[in-house]
Amino acid sequence: MHKNSVIEISQKAHKENIDFLRKTYGKKVILSSVVKGNAYGHGLAEFVKMAFDNGVNHFSVFDVEEAKIVFDTLKSTVTILIMGFVADDDMQWVIQNKIEFFVFERYRLAKAAKVAKKLKQKAIIHIEVETGMNRTGFEVKTIAKVAQYLIKEKENIRFKGLCTHYAGAESISNYYRVSKQIELFNKAESIIKSFGIQPEIRHSACSAASMMFPETRMDLVRIGILQYGLWPSPEVFVTFLNAKKTKNDPLQRVISWKSEIMSVKRVKSGEFIGYGTSFMAKEHMKIATIPLGYSHGYSRSLSNQGRVLINGQRCMVIGTVNMNMLTIDVSEIEHVKKGDEVTLIGTQKNLSITVSSFSDFSNQLNYELLTRISKTIPRKIIQ
Ligand SMILES: *Cc1c(COP(=O)(O)O)cnc(C)c1O
Repeated sequence: MHKNSVIEISQKAHKENIDFLRKTYGKKVILSSVVKGNAYGHGLAEFVKMAFDNGVNHFSVFDVEEAKIVFDTLKSTVTILIMGFVADDDMQWVIQNKIEFFVFERYRLAKAAKVAKKLKQKAIIHIEVETGMNRTGFEVKTIAKVAQYLIKEKENIRFKGLCTHYAGAESISNYYRVSKQIELFNKAESIIKSFGIQPEIRHSACSAASMMFPETRMDLVRIGILQYGLWPSPEVFVTFLNAKKTKNDPLQRVISWKSEIMSVKRVKSGEFIGYGTSFMAKEHMKIATIPLGYSHGYSRSLSNQGRVLINGQRCMVIGTVNMNMLTIDVSEIEHVKKGDEVTLIGTQKNLSITVSSFSDFSNQLNYELLTRISKTIPRKIIQ
């Protein structure tokens, strides 16, 4: 941990997002908070504890490492679902602690049954169907065999869920592809039912699908980006505004990122600033250095592009972003000094740097920008 910068997580903003989402989906739909990628950069342990206090009791992670952090933080008070990787060696821990997990191939199904049998405790699984993303999941033509296997192993396997994931529900241009996926998912479900069994719950929606295709909400929604107060894409946002005939964004950004000025100095006109020649002072300038760089997740592509807020004013990043430092043009700010607060994401007075403005400049998705923010930066929960 270091003190060069701090990530603040707003409990109130998250609560408002969760309240909005619960109202949108209705009481019957379980809301699973997706916290892979260090809770989209928000800080996994800190975030899930806060989300739990905000009433969330279901979390989806990518792998066992993340599941362990959630489990260590909240114990068995919540449901934990692993959507991705479980190493063979970890299967025992997963089953013993009633962690639920996606199963998307025969090998893992057999492994789950075998370990469960040895432990004399059922594995709680979600069968993932391949419906067109072509990443992971059982092909629909193999679903009959899966159903037979689930019947045969019913002492060892609890068939908790049937699920799939959509390939790009955030863009209308994928409408046809996603519609086909929904159809295939329904087909897989009816094949399973024809064997006289059925999953306890069905789920398929991520943030985008939950907004663009309400029928994908089913029994549970897996919500990542929306709960952090960001839209999956401008298209989803505009579609929402049009449908609701409103201009107001109901979501609140949860994250802020702040640092401070470590030094201020003057540079004469004609001098180059930083490495190489990417920035030349065209007049006498005042610059500030910030103890933060690409090693902390502030992308190098923000060189000569990024903006930050200092003393309530917007300032430009000048020169290249270094590994541990940034240089900012503060020529226009009168009383600027060492120790002044610098906002990289967040609000000062009436100006804001949003995550998406930030990621537009660096051509990164919101998702990518957030998850790149270094784990070593302390996360602080604020009201
Ligand atoms: C990441 C992920 C989600 C959540 O996606 P958002 O767009 O952030 O809501 C849902 N399901 C799966 C399988 C995922 O990998």
